[in-house]
Amino acid sequence: MATTLPIAAKAGFMTCHICHQLNHAAHGGHDSACARCGAALHFRKPDSIARSWALLIAAMILYVPANVMHVTETSALTGIQRDTIMSGVIYLWATGSIPVAVLIFFASIMVPLAKIIALLLLLITTQRGSTWRQLDRGRLYRVVELVGRWSMVDIYVIGLLVTLVQLGGLANIVAGPGAIAFGAVVVLTMFAAEAFDPRLIWDAGENESGRE
Ligand SMILES: [Zn+2]
Repeated sequence: MATTLPIAAKAGFMTCHICHQLNHAAHGGHDSACARCGAALHFRKPDSIARSWALLIAAMILYVPANVMHVTETSALTGIQRDTIMSGVIYLWATGSIPVAVLIFFASIMVPLAKIIALLLLLITTQRGSTWRQLDRGRLYRVVELVGRWSMVDIYVIGLLVTLVQLGGLANIVAGPGAIAFGAVVVLTMFAAEAFDPRLIWDAGENESGRE
């Protein structure tokens, strides 16, 4: 995977991930330790693409049960009702909680899907060494990373859903297997974004043009 190194790396400079000290590589471009804090130094995150792929594929697989299996199981006097994220959204919409229905639809269905698609795009283009819209891809990565930090909103939303259902009457509610799969999707996409090294986007075409 590590074919050619870009400018700073060619000059033998590496930034420490921990303390941001700029280090000079000791010899021959081998990864070494930070001169200030002793943390391991890498020109690029090791096996970035492979690790990011593994986490993303796991997230994509779990996205299916997260949406197909029930996330809540409500037992009331009338019987047991099992809801998927989508049926919960429809239920909330139908009972007049339109803003909450919209919020849950976006936070729990659209945002995770958009994150998966964005990571797929980044991984495929970067793996192919594409020079296509590098600036926009860098921006896209920053958005995915930013969304990741706020992803716990998704889980918060399920909590909110549970509360709303409980307010609705004499009901007892527990999380279903879909909720576990959903939580796993959130965490896995976050880790997939973290494993991806955005500097790899700019490694493509660095040899031909030699720009700064
Ligand atoms: Zn350091």
